[in-house]
Amino acid sequence: MARMYADVIIDISHEKVDRPFQYRIPPKLSEVVCPGVRVHVPFGRGNQDKVGYVVDLSDQPDYPVDKIKDIIAVDSKGITAESNQIRIAYWLKRQYGSTTIAALKTVLPVKQKLKQLERKKVVRCVEGDILQEAVFACERKKQVARARVLRAFLTDAVLPYELIRQKLNVASATLMALEKQGLLKIETESYYRNPVRCADREEKRVVLSEIQRGIIEKVLSDYEEGHSGTYLIHGITGSGKTEVYLGIIEKMIGMGRQAIVLIPEIALTYQTLLRFYKRFGDRVSVMNSSLSMGEKYDQIRRAQAGEIDVIIGPRSALFTPFPRLGVIIVDEEHESSYKGEAMPKYHARETAVQIASMHHACVVLGSATPSMEAYYRARQGEYQLFEMRNRQGGSILPRVYTVDLREELKQGNRSVFSRKLRELMEERLRDGEQTILFLNRRGYAGFISCRECGHVMKCPHCDVSLSEHRGNVLLCHYCGYQEIRKKNCPVCGSRYLMGFKAGTEQIEEALHREFPEARVLRMDADTTKTKESYEKILSAFADEKADILVGTQMIVKGHDFPNVTLVGILAADLSLNQNDYRAGERTFQLLTQAAGRAGRGEKPGEVVIQTYQPEHYSIVHAARQDYQGFYEEEIMYRDLMQYPPVAHMLAVLVTSREQEQGEALTGKMVDFVNFCRTARTKEESPDEERRTAQTWQRLQIIGPTEASINKINDLYRHVFYMKHPDYQVLVGIKDELEFFCKREELKNQTVQYDFDPMNTY
Ligand code: ADP
Ligand code: ZN
Ligand code: ZN
Repeated sequence: MARMYADVIIDISHEKVDRPFQYRIPPKLSEVVCPGVRVHVPFGRGNQDKVGYVVDLSDQPDYPVDKIKDIIAVDSKGITAESNQIRIAYWLKRQYGSTTIAALKTVLPVKQKLKQLERKKVVRCVEGDILQEAVFACERKKQVARARVLRAFLTDAVLPYELIRQKLNVASATLMALEKQGLLKIETESYYRNPVRCADREEKRVVLSEIQRGIIEKVLSDYEEGHSGTYLIHGITGSGKTEVYLGIIEKMIGMGRQAIVLIPEIALTYQTLLRFYKRFGDRVSVMNSSLSMGEKYDQIRRAQAGEIDVIIGPRSALFTPFPRLGVIIVDEEHESSYKGEAMPKYHARETAVQIASMHHACVVLGSATPSMEAYYRARQGEYQLFEMRNRQGGSILPRVYTVDLREELKQGNRSVFSRKLRELMEERLRDGEQTILFLNRRGYAGFISCRECGHVMKCPHCDVSLSEHRGNVLLCHYCGYQEIRKKNCPVCGSRYLMGFKAGTEQIEEALHREFPEARVLRMDADTTKTKESYEKILSAFADEKADILVGTQMIVKGHDFPNVTLVGILAADLSLNQNDYRAGERTFQLLTQAAGRAGRGEKPGEVVIQTYQPEHYSIVHAARQDYQGFYEEEIMYRDLMQYPPVAHMLAVLVTSREQEQGEALTGKMVDFVNFCRTARTKEESPDEERRTAQTWQRLQIIGPTEASINKINDLYRHVFYMKHPDYQVLVGIKDELEFFCKREELKNQTVQYDFDPMNTY
């Protein structure tokens, strides 16, 4: 018999309406209303037409029957959430803290059905030698983009249009021009029927090593025996992890299962995608932020219909609704981009494990520098650990020199380049090899201050300094505020208002001064405003149009530069000085990955680490490429301080219109937690009381204080932290605090929860 009532979550993100509202299902809709359906309902006193999601059905009214309103209609264009997705949404909400609707929207990235799209592919129309001629011709005419496209067709006869547009970063006009020349043809086909015979699938199949085969067999036999688990592959870059992923996915597809592959957006390179396309052809799809809503909708539909087997993408690809999910792969598992900034602040790794368990699927994590979380769990036996110690093809690890900058100064060297680094750079310039200079300085841009009174030019809306940009503009990186650079100090009127150049710019100038013959490219937040400029710099460097690439951490990822044989790390310890429990881990990862950029080709690489703290364990172990050594020291520190992953941490961030409001609310929230602590320890039985007392005793509260950036966009930020060994205890406190805030009826204030935060606030 059809159910009479439906619980509906209204699409309004406000704590007050964050609960299901009950509606009657009119008989004409009884066939179509089920959990997950998007419906129109009358809401509030004015009976406004609102949209919501049905999350549950029942026979019994929870209110007097005459108070219950009818569902108006089913939103025929709405995407239906599957019951699994609703379960995941509730799990996200509880585990990470957010409103139900925000959690639902997280798992349903596309709300509306959209018109089905057509798919385009690009086909080569000429023979290889003619194409090669055309490549040379374009190069002579400096038509870089055209040359890049044509080069891709030297190996492949057909490539998906979107892959070329996104990953080779070519304008559609360029492709049309090549079509006019008769070199390529753009073909349109209906999306589903004709699989793109991409890349003629002529993949060089490697013979898997024993280790690789061992991992694949273990994962699959566990799966077939019904106890699929979570696996961590710790393997340096180039050790053959991707080949293992491909092997596992292939076997899964053979069993009729599907796979989600998470790759951080910045590492989602054309080469990586092509490997998946070549192996699985049209059964692979890509999900990323540059897709339109229509394209995203299409991917979801195809996944739901079982028309694709593999989806590749960043964090959000996790919620692809595959009916027969077999495996979730999380590559570069340690990347901080796996945790989102928006509520619910979920971590893709943990969420992957949860989703997989609902499908009895397995999770495979991979990294050259595993997160402390993953490695700790592997050590605890929660994950199974595999180590891959050697690079495929046997290219050897780079040789690393650590230079103590204090010593350089003592020896009278005032340059930003140590003597060792300079010597090696000169060698590279002489031999026509390339160098990468990496400046470990996050979020640092040039700022302006008065040399007379010390006044720093700050954003009026944010608690951060403005940075100088070309055209005499001062810019705020947090809210976009701009002003014209003034001649005189607004405080003392002096004329000595001077800029401090961003680190990378300084390095670039020093290079021009000290290596006038070198061709230099710079890559930082300033030179890479658009994704296009980012790719442009990287491909120019890959094409050996420069000898030296200077950049921030964004150069560490992705591309392979076989001609780079030297990496210089200029200020290795700068990231250590952040007041943040993950600083050591982040430094180790950055240095190890930066060092890994050297010598990826035939030639061996060298690395120079310049630092003021050569004795710091992050630096010592990074120089030795010794992950275990680093892990042992870092985990001792985390244990001692009760930081994640040994214990857990919950950050509560309050944003308010007024400074005093924020102080008051965080103060009250901390008082409330302390009140719970004393109230809860008075239990009925003495045994119970002791246990509860022990639980609460282990709770540590830090703060409340102003956040380190006290104001962003005219909103004041206050924060406090709680630490406890048991994650679920923190979840319980979060639930209480949510309840508390609902009662407080906050005005112009929001509260955000962040479990095991990636940064402190
Ligand atoms: P990772 O994902 O760990 O960086 P890849 O799987 O990309 O490593 O492998 C690095 C390179 O080594 C690739 O070019 C790959 O084709 C090659 N490779 C991987 N496994 C083997 C193998 N068993 N034999 C020969 N080459 C291999
Ligand atoms: Zn001044
Ligand atoms: Zn600002």
